Amino acid sequence: MIYQRSSQLFAEAEKVIPGGVNSPVRAFKAVGGTPIFVKSAKGAYLYDEDGNRLIDYINSWGPMILGHAYEPVVEAVIEKAKLGTSFGMPTELETQIAAFAVSMVPNIDKIRFVNSGTEACMSAVRLARGFTKRDKIIKFAGCYHGHSDSFLIQAGSGAVTFGTPNSPGVTAGTAKDTLLAKYNDLENVKTLIEANKNEIAAIIVEPVAGNMGCIPPVKGFLEGLRELCTANGILLIFDEVMTGFRLARGGVQELFNINADIVCFGKVIGGGLPVGAFAARAEIMNYLAPLGPVYQAGTLSGNPLAMAAGLAMLQALDSDREIFKRLEEKTAYLGAGIERVLKANNVVFTINRIGSMISVHFDANPVTDFQSAGAGDNETFKKFFHGLVAEGVYIAPSAYETWFITDALTYEDLDFTIQAIDKVSKAF
Ligand SMILES: *Cc1c(COP(=O)(O)O)cnc(C)c1O
Repeated sequence: MIYQRSSQLFAEAEKVIPGGVNSPVRAFKAVGGTPIFVKSAKGAYLYDEDGNRLIDYINSWGPMILGHAYEPVVEAVIEKAKLGTSFGMPTELETQIAAFAVSMVPNIDKIRFVNSGTEACMSAVRLARGFTKRDKIIKFAGCYHGHSDSFLIQAGSGAVTFGTPNSPGVTAGTAKDTLLAKYNDLENVKTLIEANKNEIAAIIVEPVAGNMGCIPPVKGFLEGLRELCTANGILLIFDEVMTGFRLARGGVQELFNINADIVCFGKVIGGGLPVGAFAARAEIMNYLAPLGPVYQAGTLSGNPLAMAAGLAMLQALDSDREIFKRLEEKTAYLGAGIERVLKANNVVFTINRIGSMISVHFDANPVTDFQSAGAGDNETFKKFFHGLVAEGVYIAPSAYETWFITDALTYEDLDFTIQAIDKVSKAF
């Protein structure tokens, strides 16, 4: 495939946009080369600026669960746009999508819409701190909760030591209120809680991790977090920005039958427009301004185009009772196919999979946390990535990412992908 025009466009972009991209994950830092510029997308396919077609396994990093340019969403946005694109005043549509989301997700009474997953997580933590009147939070190494200061704390520090900033610009003062724990390690969490008695406001977790590859929780991990939180007056925040409306109608709370205290959403809930949301029981949500003392706001929050897209998406998911089963079956089929060809080609690998999330790691050991996720062979991944692009299959340009299966993918697309992986891995 030829990437002449993409390369030219990237060179132009670099002059006026830092690194040529508006989000670092789009750059090809981990794999080399220059990013592919997209012209359009429909269903399971991306069409790039050089006229290539790629089967898409990123799907805008999650939102396009029903495929690109999904008709009901596109129609809803077009219709709303004609009526005005923003008012800064309440609209009926906001209540409609709020009521709909509350009806789909267990254990929430009220929801507030924001403009990104970052904002949702940032606001959820502020709310938890206001509600509990405590300052510290526990987060897990390798879990991503957006780029707000308190979450940009690096992995690797000892169990009871304070986190150190991993991005310049995050102050030591902020970092010291974020305690780092190891994913899937309850003992580690217990130690942190004991060392910080009555100081921890919240534990925030990706209940199925998706930002270090796909890492499902081990048996008892989420149950254990729930118990520890309840016993210690800590709020449990499920960051379901990736998993919400993806792994089940009601997300991981429904899937594993565990209640969180605050739940964050993004990605699917906006149907591909910039949307995030956070939700909880009324008792907690009523702490927010204008009812309560915790301030949170947004000029474009609840934007009519975004709400129309989100509502159309949620309605489509709600009306199709087979959707999550079908997605899981497609993902299982793809996973089995990849396993078959990688084995036949003597490649060392581990595949993690749950629902419509899957990741391939070039390492023989189980991948259960940030450390094991980092053990994969990145040189093999680079060949894998570029080989697949050459075959017309697009996965995320980093070994730390999950692939997202969309309902627009046909079994022919999946077979095509498996064959491409066979071909590429033969040449490793
Ligand atoms: C993507 C993501 C975020 C951040 O959402 P943005 O919309 O990119 O700000 C937060 N948490 C999780 C789990 C995510 O996957």
